[in-house]
This record gives sequence, structure tokens and C-alpha cells, in this order.
Amino acid sequence: MRRDQILAERLKRRREQGLYRSLEVVTDRQGVEVVVKGQKLINFSSNDYLGMASHPQVIAAMKRGADRYGIGSGASHLVSGHFQSHAELEQELAEFVGYERTLLFSTGYQANLGVLTALSSRNDWVFEDRLNHASLLDGVRLAGANLKRYPHGDVSALKSLVEEQPQACLLATDGVFSMDGDLAPLPEMADLARCRDLWLYVDDAHGFGVLGKEGAGSISHFGLGPKHVPIVMATFGKALGVFGAFVAGSELLIETLIQQARTFIYTTALPPALTEAVRMSLALMQRENWRREKLTDLIARFRRGASALGLNLIDSSTPIQPLIVGDSLRALEVSRSLQAKGFWLSAIRPPTVPVGTARLRITLSAAHSETQVDRLLEALSQSL
Ligand SMILES: *Cc1c(COP(=O)(O)O)cnc(C)c1O
Repeated sequence: MRRDQILAERLKRRREQGLYRSLEVVTDRQGVEVVVKGQKLINFSSNDYLGMASHPQVIAAMKRGADRYGIGSGASHLVSGHFQSHAELEQELAEFVGYERTLLFSTGYQANLGVLTALSSRNDWVFEDRLNHASLLDGVRLAGANLKRYPHGDVSALKSLVEEQPQACLLATDGVFSMDGDLAPLPEMADLARCRDLWLYVDDAHGFGVLGKEGAGSISHFGLGPKHVPIVMATFGKALGVFGAFVAGSELLIETLIQQARTFIYTTALPPALTEAVRMSLALMQRENWRREKLTDLIARFRRGASALGLNLIDSSTPIQPLIVGDSLRALEVSRSLQAKGFWLSAIRPPTVPVGTARLRITLSAAHSETQVDRLLEALSQSL
């Protein structure tokens, strides 16, 4: 069939450009050591920054949750799927991050679509960092609002763009950039947003659990709060090691989302057994400060070693430590050679990152040992 030929041609082109993506099957538990095709690999590609995904107390909480609530929530939150576990988690999150209220979403992707479609529409202008996560861009597209992207982290460029646009409505940014690991200039962005009466929306998927007081995230890291950043989203699938997401904001904002965020209204609520695991992970993550301390030490160790080897690192103080390779085919080749040596570092290529900046996105975890980091550095020095 001709339609099939078109698809096959496109896939062939992708393969030739080194942009073809494929799935790897992990056959045992998620953690810093995983098994892929029978080979044990040290995993430097997971967002489980604190090593919570296989924490025995988190696993036990999910089992107890399943016994108490069953597995599926049965319906969306507004129909009959909102359980006591959800309500308690929302309350605990609000207290922890210091916002009036929070609302659970089934994924961070859906949370971003929900917030952006509820707060912007056809005549509005939304401003986004060039390197924002795909879901923040997709949310504006779905809302039908006008999207203006500004150069990465450049507040003065952003200011000029905002000043040109009387229908400016919202600024949205990653708190920690997912593929680069650097932080958004939140204090300056908050000043601009306040001055121009704009919403400031921060996606803190990679800051929550890692940065700030007890892991409260990038807003806490900068000493900011709801007055400066009125809307925050964070996920449970990264540092918390579970799954799902929440949005924090004012009572008014959360009530608006409940009425208008279609990705909240028209989807099945998270399984309450899973939110029991999130509640346990949230409590442990705050208490077990040693995890963040160890992570900080490992980041420093990795950066010292990498700079001694003359590797091309981005200026990042977070567990995301990308090594820019440039060419996509070369990035794949290096990734494969590391895999043969027992390391899992997936090659991140366009369109996830800009053309010409294919990279190995190295992510560190509190569950890694110093020896594993040293061995990675040694393998990198041989493979690059
Ligand atoms: C992972 C991620 C998301 C999506 O969250 P999911 O819960 O995985 O859907 C959104 N924004 C950023 C910056 C992310 O890294």
C-alpha cells in the first residue's frame, strides 16, 4: 500500500540520520543496576535521583494501599475516583510546598496541558524558554494560544518580547531544564511577571525532591514562594520514584482547574494504592536528608573527574550532567560502546534537544556508589 511506503520511507530516513528510536526491555527491578538482554548494566539514565523507586518502605506502602483500596480508582476524580488517599496526599503536598492548595494529575504531561489550556486561549500570548519540556509547548498548541519562545535563560530578551505584546498572559519555564540540568532565573522572572501582571508557571519535575529545603524544589532553592511563583507543577515519577503529578497554587486557581482542566476532568484518577506509595516516598524524602547530601557529593565527584579528563560538560549543579557529543550518529555509537562496557547512558537526540547538540544525558542517583561513578569516568575516557 502506498500509505505504508510513505511510512517506511520516513523511518528509513530517520535511521540514516541516527534519529531512530527503539525500546530496550528491562527484565528486573528499577534501580542503579538493571538487567537488559541478560546483561547487567549500571544505569546512568534514570530520573530516580534519590533511589526511591525500589525503597522497601515505598513498596510496602503500595502493597498496603492495594489491600485497602483495591487497584484501579474506577473513575475520574469528579465521578467517583477521588479517594481518601488522594485527598490526604493533596493536603500533605500543600503543607510541604507552602501553597494554599494542590491538585493531583495522572501525569506531568497531562498537568501541563491542563494548566495551559485552563489559563490561556486564542487571543493570549504565552512566553516559553526555548528549552522547555515538550509538554509545556504542546499545552499552548492545544489551548490555541500564541506561543513566543525566548532564548534559553535570557530574561532581558524575554522582557523585550513581553513589552511588545499587550496580550501577554503567562510565562512558563522548567525550573531545572530536563536535558541540560541548569536552573531557570526564577527571581528575575518573578520580578518581570509581577511588574507586568502575568502568570508565572514553573514546571519543577527535576527540582522537586532534589533542590531546596527538604527537597521542596527550585522555588524553595531560590527562597521564593507563592507570591513570586503563583503556579507550580511537579511530578512523582522522578525524584519520588513513583508516578503521577500535582499542581500547587491558590484556592482560586485549583478550583478553576477542577472546572476547566480537561486533562484532569476526562481521565481516570491515579490508583489510590499508587498515591499511598507517593505519600510514603514524600515523607521519607523529606526525612532522609542524607540522600540529597550524598547526591551532592557524587555530583561534585563526577564533575571533578570529568573536568580532569577534559570532557565537555554543561554548567549544571543538578544530577543531570549532559555530555554534548553533537552528531546524532556519534552519540549513538558512544552510547553503544558504553553499553558494551556495562553502562546504560541513552543517547538523547533531536527533536528532544536542538539539532547539533545530541548528547549523553548522564543522571546521577543517591543510590550510586563512588566506585560506580569512578568506573563511569574511566569508561567515558575510553569511549569518547
Ligand atoms: C518528565 C517531565 C514531564 C512529564 O511528566 P510525566 O509525569 O512523566 O508525564 C513534564 N515536564 C518535565 C520538565 C519533565 O521532565
